[in-house]
Amino acid sequence: MTIQETISQARKSGRKALDESNGKQLLAEFGVTVPQSIVTKDAATAAGDVSNLKFPVVVKVMSADILHKSDAGGVKVGLQNADEVSQAIAEMAKQPEIKKADVDGYLVEEMAPPGQELVVGGLKDPQFGPLVMVGLGGIFVEVLKDVAFRICPIEEIDAREMLAELKGAPLLKGARGQKPVSEDAIIDVLMKVGGDNGLLMQLEDDIAEADINPLIVSDNGAVAVDARFILTKQSNS
Ligand code: ADP
Ligand code: MG
Repeated sequence: MTIQETISQARKSGRKALDESNGKQLLAEFGVTVPQSIVTKDAATAAGDVSNLKFPVVVKVMSADILHKSDAGGVKVGLQNADEVSQAIAEMAKQPEIKKADVDGYLVEEMAPPGQELVVGGLKDPQFGPLVMVGLGGIFVEVLKDVAFRICPIEEIDAREMLAELKGAPLLKGARGQKPVSEDAIIDVLMKVGGDNGLLMQLEDDIAEADINPLIVSDNGAVAVDARFILTKQSNS
């Protein structure tokens, strides 16, 4: 299915956002690296469905009713084999918040190489049009609001300035004895999201909000491990 077909199908089924699997398909279409993944229905189907994935893997619940999967007990990382995947799904299905949700299935995906967690996002401002943002993950975004915004489309120099603006920027260069992460990989993702040919500009009519949280950046690449795209409201539907 093309992205446009995926988007119109989501709209037709009354969804306000793309599910995580479709969100990652959209990112991949624009050249952003996402983990290899499959969607499975339940614990019984999992073993057969995961045979082409490289372990360890992560399991995540997929439901339009659940925004924060971890809070709902719907994320389990570091699973080593098909049995562990089935067990994790069986346990998730018993969590109160998941039990009462309308569950689409379970996303099983390969683990990204360890690195720094960043957030890359975007939104459509009524006055300025698409804006792109970047921040360091976790407390940096949530508590310290350490983020940088630009109006799209951005050029590479803008993307570099955005990173330099972050108070946490020294962490990217390997503060506290950690390996420096690839700034080029972050710039590349920012261009694919906020550049002229990026997804926010190209899908301006369809995407109201984009959220990659986190983008895991290592010394040689960046992988988008969570993706949420909220669709614009359409007056003619
Ligand atoms: P949510 O934000 O809905 O709780 P996420 O999909 O962001 O769920 O997963 C929660 C956390 O699990 C992420 O912030 C990340 O630390 C870790 N994680 C999720 N998917 C992967 C993955 N493919 N590889 C490595 N870590 C992951
Ligand atoms: Mg997340």
